[in-house]
Amino acid sequence: MSATSVPLSIYLHIPFCRIKCTYCAFNTYVNLEGLIEPFVAALAREIQIVGQAQPGQTVGTVYLGGGTPSILTPEQMDDILTAIRRNFKLLPDAEISIEANPSDLNAGYMKALREVGINRVSIGMQSANANELELFHRRHDNDATVRAVAAARQGGFTNLNLDLIYGIPHQTLDNWDNSLRQMLRLQPEHVSLYALGLEDGTPMKRWVATGRLPAPDDDLAADMYELATDVLGAAGYEQYEISNWAKPGYACRHNLQYWYNLPYPGLGPGAHGFAGGVRYSTVLSPQRYIQAMQTADDRYDYPRTPATDQAVVVDRQTEITDTLLMGLRLTREGIRREVFRQRFGDDVLDLYGSLIEKYVGYGLLYVDDDVVRLTRQGRLLSNMIFRELV
Ligand code: SF4
Repeated sequence: MSATSVPLSIYLHIPFCRIKCTYCAFNTYVNLEGLIEPFVAALAREIQIVGQAQPGQTVGTVYLGGGTPSILTPEQMDDILTAIRRNFKLLPDAEISIEANPSDLNAGYMKALREVGINRVSIGMQSANANELELFHRRHDNDATVRAVAAARQGGFTNLNLDLIYGIPHQTLDNWDNSLRQMLRLQPEHVSLYALGLEDGTPMKRWVATGRLPAPDDDLAADMYELATDVLGAAGYEQYEISNWAKPGYACRHNLQYWYNLPYPGLGPGAHGFAGGVRYSTVLSPQRYIQAMQTADDRYDYPRTPATDQAVVVDRQTEITDTLLMGLRLTREGIRREVFRQRFGDDVLDLYGSLIEKYVGYGLLYVDDDVVRLTRQGRLLSNMIFRELV
């Protein structure tokens, strides 16, 4: 197997948290800190296996997500990034991001992260309102977020994302407006806004099912989204994806790789990846993951490793559908017709002309000679279009 000319984006899943948030269904575990050290060694081993199966492969972005990567020490981060540098060609301008909990950050820690090469931090602010953070069982308040941002700046970070959640039970438009404005005072380069989802197995879903909390109000959530679109636009942020806004030049390059449907190996327990024409996932259990890596041979069929759980070879039609579903999320760029033509040999209108024309007629899609993309109204109803594409 030889390297591809497209630089990879590598996702690394860190499956540890100090507290489980009430809405979270990610593959993450509390009270397993004792596994962090062997986990870091296992992750370095998995990086080695994937890198050696694809010699000379360039990497343009690395993303440490989770879970709570900021539980790791700078030395452990360094071990992981050293494994990447040894086994891939990490490009000099690579974007290297971590997700972080505000409570974990201080200036010394952030400076140490910069020194090991991390250059982007995504802080889980989630809300500025105490009642919402308590409902989530987050282990920080808004003051901690303010201190975390200051620490990141003191540590030398010039590329910072803040996450917020809307559509929270009991949340009003005024509460949401407050979170947005508090967030803007911190002047992040990038903003991600997520509608609260009620995920299976979470306390939040149970509380709504048993009537302890009101069910989400979709109309109110849509109003919140509209408000955010106006407030962020007025503050100089460009919306470039359904849930993401950035100052010019600060779109997240790692996530763009997903939305372009380009290769991103996913490593670590519960990670998902798409590389070498294969879409796959990794075993969920950190213990099983560590064990698989401790007994791993050297040769595996890229991008598989001994921790691979499910793997499906992606056929052409699925790749086309995935490319459309992901690309339409890009609210500014949309689907670039020439790029699509070069990749698949067909114009997107030849393949999906009647469906696209229908939604253009409803005012939900925009088409010209260069692009197909969602309109502002289409962003609110994107799921309807995506369902029909599948
Ligand atoms: S910190 Fe993040 S990953 Fe961990 S439980 Fe909370 S939402 Fe989930």
